Amino acid sequence: MRVAIVGGGWAGLSAASELAKAGARVCLFEAARQLGGRARAIDARGHRLDNGQHILVGAYRETLRLMQTVGADPERLLKRLPLELNFPGSLNTGFRMRLPRLPAPLHLAAGLLGARGASLAEKISAVRFMRFLQGIGYQIGEDCAVSTLLDRHQQHGELRRFLWEALCLAALNTAPEQASAQVFANTLRDSLGGGRAATDLLLPAADLDRLFPAAAAAFIAAHGGEIRLSTRVAAIDDGFTVAGERFDCTILAVGPQHAAPLLAQDQATATTAELLAGYRFEPIATVYCGYPSTLRLPFPMLGLAARRSGEVGQWVFDRGTLCGTPGVMAFVLSGHGSWEKLDDQTLATQLDRELAAALDTRMPASAWRQVVRERRATFSCRPGLQRPAARTARRGLWLAGDYVCAEYPATLEAAVRSGVTAARGVLFEGCGRTGDTATVAAGTP
Ligand SMILES: Cc1cc2nc3c(=O)[nH]c(=O)nc-3n(C[C@H](O)[C@H](O)[C@H](O)COP(=O)(O)OP(=O)(O)OC[C@H]3O[C@@H](n4cnc5c(N)ncnc54)[C@H](O)[C@@H]3O)c2cc1C
Repeated sequence: MRVAIVGGGWAGLSAASELAKAGARVCLFEAARQLGGRARAIDARGHRLDNGQHILVGAYRETLRLMQTVGADPERLLKRLPLELNFPGSLNTGFRMRLPRLPAPLHLAAGLLGARGASLAEKISAVRFMRFLQGIGYQIGEDCAVSTLLDRHQQHGELRRFLWEALCLAALNTAPEQASAQVFANTLRDSLGGGRAATDLLLPAADLDRLFPAAAAAFIAAHGGEIRLSTRVAAIDDGFTVAGERFDCTILAVGPQHAAPLLAQDQATATTAELLAGYRFEPIATVYCGYPSTLRLPFPMLGLAARRSGEVGQWVFDRGTLCGTPGVMAFVLSGHGSWEKLDDQTLATQLDRELAAALDTRMPASAWRQVVRERRATFSCRPGLQRPAARTARRGLWLAGDYVCAEYPATLEAAVRSGVTAARGVLFEGCGRTGDTATVAAGTP
């Protein structure tokens, strides 16, 4: 069986690895000159950086499994830390929450009750909220905005701001007022509501290429597969002629905005194309600053709390501690916000000032700065957003990509899961079956 895979992001690479392992002949087409898509390494200012600082969590079951399959050792490439949220700059005291190394769910209860900077009433209310979600199996019924769900369950004050809203923005890349409560509940189920290891932060200790794409490419080649870079697929013709070659079936593993025009070319997939054309997107910026190599943050991941209007900081990562590049800090700005209006220079200077205020110190001057803005970093994860199924209405054409994994927001785990699902669909159902056209509501398992 010859399978074409269009798109060499984490979804396409996962599908190709899974198929190659099972003995299928795969050929992966990638428009860019490198693999990785929205999670790729970049070279800038003489440094190996990423297009965006990424965070993984222990709940990324399929990502960790596939990394192991292709020979990228998660133990070596990811730094595992107990979940710890530190916002030293908030109000006078700062907010701090750390989940101790206790068995679940004790670790969560102890972490919530021990949170510094939150009132006892907030803590009890947060424990009740998690118990409520658990009690309803994390199925909230009719989807609504995360902020509505938080209001309904009296989640206020510092825990709302520094735990629930911060987690929502980090995981869904969508502001709590617009984000899907059901998808948020799904992420809570698999992280805070899961085993202790599921809540761990897994922070990359190497660039994103080494985390998966490079090892996946070597694995695919070692199993007889091919990878064609700099090859943009403009059409998927009848009988699956992709870039002039015939295949038995195709997995389309591109972002929703790139899938839509390809799917619109065929009557059978026109409805899915229309659905995807209506998707909205959220940006992410990563601002890298090269400080003197002696500069270290007190924690590898530090929250920046806006205390005055005009402040924009969210998180800063110490890449010295994490990736062995001393002095390199990565500031992350997720979702639409006032930071988008600032030019690169102003944005970097502003973040520098906010970090100094958070640490209550004078910052040394940075020798270089690099701002990477991904304007369409993720789809906007809104309540009730419809997602297409992996199987399309066209015989032998399958979809993969973070947007296809209906349970999850746009994340690496969603991309990997979607790739594995499409590969298994091809393997178990072959290429000749006509599938259904069902779309799945956001967050439906
Ligand atoms: C800055 C940033 C920060 C992020 N942070 C996190 C995080 O902390 N944690 C997390 O889990 N997730 C994070 N994400 C989300 C995560 O990176 C994405 O969900 C994931 O990489 C999507 O993978 P994908 O394979 O579905 O899509 P993509 O990565 O978009 O891959 C699609 C590929 O298809 C190629 N392509 C498109 N059209 C064609 C064509 N016609 N022919 C051939 N090739 C084509 C593209 O070039 C691309 O390489 C972040 C994303 C960004 C941008």
